[in-house]
Amino acid sequence: MPIARKAFLAASRNKWLAERFMRRPFARRAVRKFMPGEELSDALGAAKVLAPARIGTIVTRLGESLTGESQADAVRDHYLGAFDDIQRQGLPSVVSVKPTQLGLDLSMDACREHLEVLAQKAVATGSQLWIDMEDSSYVDRTLALYRHVKSRYAPVGIAIQAYLRRTPSDIESLLDLNPMIRLVKGAYLEPPHVAFPAKRDVDLQFVSQGERLLEAARDGRALPIFGTHDMTIVRHLTGRAGTLALPLDRFEIHMLYGIQSADQRALAAEGYTVRCLISYGAQWFPWYMRRLAERPANVWFVVRTAFSR
Ligand SMILES: Cc1cc2nc3c(=O)[nH]c(=O)nc-3n(C[C@H](O)[C@H](O)[C@H](O)COP(=O)(O)OP(=O)(O)OC[C@H]3O[C@@H](n4cnc5c(N)ncnc54)[C@H](O)[C@@H]3O)c2cc1C
Repeated sequence: MPIARKAFLAASRNKWLAERFMRRPFARRAVRKFMPGEELSDALGAAKVLAPARIGTIVTRLGESLTGESQADAVRDHYLGAFDDIQRQGLPSVVSVKPTQLGLDLSMDACREHLEVLAQKAVATGSQLWIDMEDSSYVDRTLALYRHVKSRYAPVGIAIQAYLRRTPSDIESLLDLNPMIRLVKGAYLEPPHVAFPAKRDVDLQFVSQGERLLEAARDGRALPIFGTHDMTIVRHLTGRAGTLALPLDRFEIHMLYGIQSADQRALAAEGYTVRCLISYGAQWFPWYMRRLAERPANVWFVVRTAFSR
């Protein structure tokens, strides 16, 4: 793994650095490239702008590992309000959550209940609930939560990371649920016995598992989502979907706000189902470090921002 990527991923866990970096006005300006603002209304404002281009959206509030269960209740209530706002504004938006935001470190039972309440709300408002995948220590618990919630409520999806060695068997084990799976490369620092250290191996597993999911979609057993900005992979998998004669509404492409925006528009204009994940919230430091890790060249943008104005 390249040193710069490792350094940013290590920094993402450093609270001392987070406090100092987040206070800097240039840091707040730089983060705007990937985040329209800190409030839900900022995210929904951006969703409104993207909707006419046929780009749907996923909104998620930043913030991980909580210190008390009342915080998890507050996060659940925040997202309940988000579903209402989305419905009221008639936006093509869905919600994505991290299990640790809903207190997974504190109580698995409470976290499961929060997810159920949110899934119910997604059904009631005609939206979807997505569950992000965090570092590898959470994968077993997150899959168990998904299995529980998805067997009761249909519009619930989960992220699965292509860099994990275990991913092919995880995908097979989920297919009986008719899952909505957002395949992503994976954004955390993991040891080599857990995740492939070489990008080439990650890309190969993304393609093989993407193809597996497309076959499952053809058989009516999954809704695959390709959560990547890697246009070589996107073009390969959309081509494969064409070969399988899969209708365009039987798979989707998801990307992050502010990254490959022109490709997002082009794919939507070609008729593909595209969604853009918009983050908001005050706790953006670990998430921002992961974005820098994905593309260390982004750091020049931070430097330029520091010296502008
Ligand atoms: C919708 C969505 C949801 C996600 N959910 C999760 C999750 O739940 N768990 C998880 O571990 N990870 C998640 N990720 C992050 C993912 O794991 C990758 O870290 C991230 O998508 C970068 O990998 P890539 O697939 O774009 O491929 P890469 O090979 O990293 O990048 C391909 C190309 O995309 C562009 N690009 C990629 N990242 C950036 C960037 N930060 N800035 C500018 N350009 C960039 C570059 O041109 C690059 O060459 C999610 C990603 C997306 C799009």
